[in-house]
Amino acid sequence: GDISNGSSESCTFKMPEIKFTKLFINGEFVDATSGKSFETIDPRNGEVITRVAEGDKEDIDLAVKAAREAFDHGPWPRMSGYARGRIMMKFADLIEEHVEELAALDSIDAGKLFTMGKILDIPGASHCLRYYAGAADKIHGQTLKMSRAMQGYTLREPIGVVGHIIPWNYPTTMFFLKVAPALAAGCTMVVKPAEQTPLSALFYAHLSKLAGVPDGVLNVVNGFGETAGAAVASHMDIDKISFTGSAEVGRLIMQAAATSNLKPVSLELGGKSPLIIFDDADVEVAAELALQGCMFNKGEICVASTRILVQEGIYEEVAKKLTEKAKSWVVGDPFDPRVQQGPQVDKKQFERVLSYIRKGKEEGAELLVGGEAHGEQGYYICPTIFSDVKDDMQIAKDEIFGPVMSLMKFKTIDEAIKRANATKYGLAAGIVTKNLDIANTVSRSIRAGSIWINCYFGFDDDAPFGGYKMSGFGREHGLDGLYMYTQVKSVVTPIYNSPW
Ligand code: NAD
Repeated sequence: GDISNGSSESCTFKMPEIKFTKLFINGEFVDATSGKSFETIDPRNGEVITRVAEGDKEDIDLAVKAAREAFDHGPWPRMSGYARGRIMMKFADLIEEHVEELAALDSIDAGKLFTMGKILDIPGASHCLRYYAGAADKIHGQTLKMSRAMQGYTLREPIGVVGHIIPWNYPTTMFFLKVAPALAAGCTMVVKPAEQTPLSALFYAHLSKLAGVPDGVLNVVNGFGETAGAAVASHMDIDKISFTGSAEVGRLIMQAAATSNLKPVSLELGGKSPLIIFDDADVEVAAELALQGCMFNKGEICVASTRILVQEGIYEEVAKKLTEKAKSWVVGDPFDPRVQQGPQVDKKQFERVLSYIRKGKEEGAELLVGGEAHGEQGYYICPTIFSDVKDDMQIAKDEIFGPVMSLMKFKTIDEAIKRANATKYGLAAGIVTKNLDIANTVSRSIRAGSIWINCYFGFDDDAPFGGYKMSGFGREHGLDGLYMYTQVKSVVTPIYNSPW
């Protein structure tokens, strides 16, 4: 039927048929060992979309067993990189045949804009697969300059069985950011999607099989964090964990890795990213970057520009322009092409964001626009901007993960750098200026993994992405993102009777 929530007549997209709701283990869709299932909710109206098999420790064990077998005895790590790359290319092609259906799944599951899914998330998944497919036959070791009469070289080998634990804000992007490089490296894996967004991952599992990824290489086990997720983190037979999510859970993952088999971990955690707008900036351009940087994907983005630092000369102008823009920012059904912001992912996040808005008011920040829920049903929140926010306010320090912006005024470059760095996080930062010296100085002075000058969300498959400080460690995207799934082995042999 029509999945419009009634708020707009132009939402005529048909509800995607839910084809996959079981666990995907060893190339088959299976029920959970316990027989249990859980509801996944449509955040547009709070209604149940469907029930999905609920994996737990036993199911993770089965998935790891399949992945271990596929790694130790299967063809995937042993075939040529070229052959793996060809299968990954096929996988990418199959995704492109289902763009609308996949985008619709992420829209009903996560409240994401359907149009953005169609032009960004889903094509981006194919792009990511092809990027790493092209690298699969170019994973080299080095020839070593040994200090004695010995020959030495390194082999770059797949790290083994990988556990990927992914969040709900980018169900598709996060899946491929982790799965694509691990596949290229020759690893086998178990993916634990977020419980809020279990649907598209199962579709990808199905497509991987059609593409020719051998059974056991890619397993998908839905379930909750404290059960299925924790079982991945503490598993004795998983060789590496790649996690994206909150800093609190990142800490738990590291602890579990430490107390189990000391598996290496990469963590991509939260952020409180600054966007610094200098006096020479074009006010219109700067305000648009700030608004998009903070509100895009309803603020559910780890790199969201939630702290907008504006130099005093244009502070009032930027604040005025931002307020105007926020007032005409369209909140509503994510299937409506005019809409710029859908609902928050679930009730818990909705309430959490609203509680931060209340906190901002209590702390004495000036509310310029928004500040409340939007509409009668679903988890919609008005884009909210606070002005005159002080560094020590809670809304300036915590990752809110919603459409809430803090505007701050600064005087000098040094002050901007100091305050931009006054956070426990270090994921990204934006700089808006036409002055090359300022741009270069500030880029080098900010402790964050990505710096975007006169742009925001400067993501690219080839640009390494990851955190400084409590935003985590490890880099995704680029060849760094591939090498996370490899081990380096030194091979040394003496050369006898050699003049060399
Ligand atoms: P979360 O960290 O709880 O969940 C992320 C993933 O970890 C999910 O798959 C979840 O099932 C799993 N998980 C939860 N507890 C676990 C455990 N004990 N062991 C193993 N896995 C576990 O994130 P959330 O609660 O969904 O969101 C809370 C906050 O996290 C957000 O408000 C936001 O600040 C942050 N967040 C950040 C990102 C990011 O991209 N960096 C993404 C989502 C959420």
